[in-house]
Amino acid sequence: MISDLAVIGGVGFALPGLADEIETPYGLVPVVRSRIKGQKIIFISRHGEGHLPPHRVNYRAIISAARMAGASCVISTNTVGSMAGHPIGSIFLPVDFVEFTRSRPNTFFEERAVHVDMSQPYCPALKSSLADAARSLGQMVSEGVYVCAEGPHLESPAQIRMMRQFGDVVGMTGYPEVALAREAALCYASLCIVTNPAAGMTGGGNLTVSEIADLMKRYQMTAIEVVSLAAQTITDQRSCSCRDALKCARF
Ligand SMILES: [Zn+2]
Repeated sequence: MISDLAVIGGVGFALPGLADEIETPYGLVPVVRSRIKGQKIIFISRHGEGHLPPHRVNYRAIISAARMAGASCVISTNTVGSMAGHPIGSIFLPVDFVEFTRSRPNTFFEERAVHVDMSQPYCPALKSSLADAARSLGQMVSEGVYVCAEGPHLESPAQIRMMRQFGDVVGMTGYPEVALAREAALCYASLCIVTNPAAGMTGGGNLTVSEIADLMKRYQMTAIEVVSLAAQTITDQRSCSCRDALKCARF
């Protein structure tokens, strides 16, 4: 069981527990100190109570709070649209990413050039624990490349035709979270739920934000079960090199 796990919750995802706050260099972050099946978890709501849009989320504060809370493992939950025909409600685990964001601070290193290695952006140990847990719970799981769009508007059919050349699913919140977690030398994995086909991928329209939130609520229990089961199968003695990310960085 991991001794120090942070969970970043996307739309419609929440955990009950003791409300707290962590003061980071990037601002105050509300957190919930929770416990599932004996596993201590720091829960951070990505969008907060005001439901900040994806391009205005304070990603640096969130990753800082996870680290300052003592977490070495971060599991992020995200909703995605499928560009490859994944069933609605199935689980997608990114192994790599491409991003088309424009206005988001994406590094902790503003004053000096630090080039952190991104050859394995998602922790393979954490990801495979999530995959095993999800499959053992009977969930359909696929892996591939996550494409991060800027939003907040949904993508046009032409944008999706372009993005399909680069990846399998599209979302708005996976980046720069993943890169910042790498810079913070954290083990980071994303548990994505496919909530809709991307624009132009079917004849029907896309789901609205409130419909996506409703769908996420329905899948929240699944996500919690997957996270808590995965947390019990991964140990602090992980074989990955995430904690050495900065040692491998070029300065
Ligand atoms: Zn790792």
